[in-house]
Amino acid sequence: MYHMVSPHGVSKKHRGLRVDPAMFERQVAWLAANDWEFVTMSELSERDFRGGKQVAITFDDGYEDNLLNALPVLQKYQAKATLYLVVERHENDWSVKKKAHHNSGELAAEPKLSDEQVRQLLRSGVFELGGHTLTHCHLPSTSPVEKAHEISACRSTLQETFDTPVTSFAYPFGIFDYEDVDLVREAGFTNAVTTNEGIDNVDQNAVDPWRLRRIKVSGKDNFWAFKIRMGIGFRGYL
Ligand SMILES: [Zn+2]
Repeated sequence: MYHMVSPHGVSKKHRGLRVDPAMFERQVAWLAANDWEFVTMSELSERDFRGGKQVAITFDDGYEDNLLNALPVLQKYQAKATLYLVVERHENDWSVKKKAHHNSGELAAEPKLSDEQVRQLLRSGVFELGGHTLTHCHLPSTSPVEKAHEISACRSTLQETFDTPVTSFAYPFGIFDYEDVDLVREAGFTNAVTTNEGIDNVDQNAVDPWRLRRIKVSGKDNFWAFKIRMGIGFRGYL
């Protein structure tokens, strides 16, 4: 799970969400050199989450650096990725929706992908799109009617706008309950990812396609920590 691929700059905020481009290339190169098969979320789902050493790189929200900094690296190593794109991502400060004091405006000011840039990502053949609600809403504080709309309309809007299938969903902030899982299923998605850390492996544990775990790639981590996360699913106690 990635968000931004960009240099850290002067701000100390959101460093975890920002992976340096040189580190990102080192990570993707390592995956390629160690025989990981790069897959999209729809490919994983079509294979019923079986098939061995596969990695689905994901990006949440829709930052412009995904095109400028991540795409060239992914192309270089013939990797693939899934982008969980917020429909209303411009001038939208979703960081305050989870915690009101997260009001620095830094994420809101971060450049987001234009629709044309999203089309470039899709035309590259590297990216597929997933849903992440219309507005990056905080599901627990959203009414049932609004929730249903946020979840189903994000899928239909993305499909119509970009003329592409949208089958995977990412819960905003990783926060959801049982009813939200039903809404995601009813909206026509075939799987959903959380921010719960770990590795889903059919050989070792039952895979729940509506609560898929992810490995958080943090911009605060060094390369060694990345490799540990890829091995055990989380950073451990180092
Ligand atoms: Zn998000």
